[in-house]
Amino acid sequence: MEKIIRHLKNSEHVLVTSHVNPDGDAIGSLLAMGLSLDALGKKTTFYNKSKIPTVYRFLPYLERIVSKIEGRNREFDTVIVLDCGNLQRVGDLFQSPNLFLRFPVIINIDHHITNTYFGDLQLIDTTACATAEIVYRLIREMAVPVDKAIATCIYTGIFTDTGSFRFSNTNKAAFEICNEMVSVGVDPYNVAKNVYGTYSLGRIKLLNMALDSIELSYNGKLSMMTVTRRMLDETGTQPEDVDGLIHYARRIQNVKIAVLLQEYRNEGKTSDTSPKSKKIGGKKKFHVSLRSDGTVDVATIAADFGGGGHHTAAGFNTESSISDLKNRIFNLMFDV
Ligand code: 5GP
Ligand code: MN
Repeated sequence: MEKIIRHLKNSEHVLVTSHVNPDGDAIGSLLAMGLSLDALGKKTTFYNKSKIPTVYRFLPYLERIVSKIEGRNREFDTVIVLDCGNLQRVGDLFQSPNLFLRFPVIINIDHHITNTYFGDLQLIDTTACATAEIVYRLIREMAVPVDKAIATCIYTGIFTDTGSFRFSNTNKAAFEICNEMVSVGVDPYNVAKNVYGTYSLGRIKLLNMALDSIELSYNGKLSMMTVTRRMLDETGTQPEDVDGLIHYARRIQNVKIAVLLQEYRNEGKTSDTSPKSKKIGGKKKFHVSLRSDGTVDVATIAADFGGGGHHTAAGFNTESSISDLKNRIFNLMFDV
């Protein structure tokens, strides 16, 4: 951590980024880290490739996050990558030609068990409940005062990544840090209201279709939910409306692994990295989410498919026909 702090203090222009299709931890950590660098007097660019889901629009300084890096604003000496198990999770930023004229140092801050230790400096703690927990510790070490805005971002990162203190990653630090954030002025009701507030009618209809799609493996230990592009089109919903649906599949009695197959959306319909579907011989692109009851390590399964994540929550992307994909996943049950 000392090395990272020394490096940051000597940096001039820092790019702070997190993973595509961001969740509360990816956005909360990004904002908290970026605002702290602002407080240190650094020139800071906040970047996330994807559109920010509506439920997180209440977060302070959200307008600072850009989805494109343009013009002269391309010279960074440091890039901080947050909440990403590997560098590809950022999107295609690092593939852009001539982006980094000064070949910056990459700092990797994360809590995923499958982290590849990419970058030049790493701050990885797989026991941290959220990347926001690690960012909090870094901010404290840098002696940046935690104001209400930073506190709200850290609180939201921990609150959402622990599933409101329900998931297995919920630790002592989650309560300690959140308690402190509340004493700085965070309003827990306001955060909860925004994150879990009202649903559009379309989202409720999508929930109905998603529940209807659930299939169980022959032994009842694996549940599979499928969300197609067509379902999104018919209900007028966005990929962000799929967040959280997998929990219904996870809560079925005796289920050890829940799987959500999410068909990628056509590119061009939305400006972000939304899932796209290209039919090549019946093959479609899917994002596959995996959740376990704790008795099965889904991070390993996801890694076998080229993805990653945590023991109880992981994911990967794949291109396959839907029937092949289902067969491959149902076959996993022979090993459980
Ligand atoms: P979700 O199913 O919500 O997309 O992701 C669950 C967990 O798995 C998250 O912690 C996320 O970072 C991780 N994850 C999801 N998709 C991928 C992927 O394609 N690659 C890697 N390395 N991790 C993923
Ligand atoms: Mn996280």
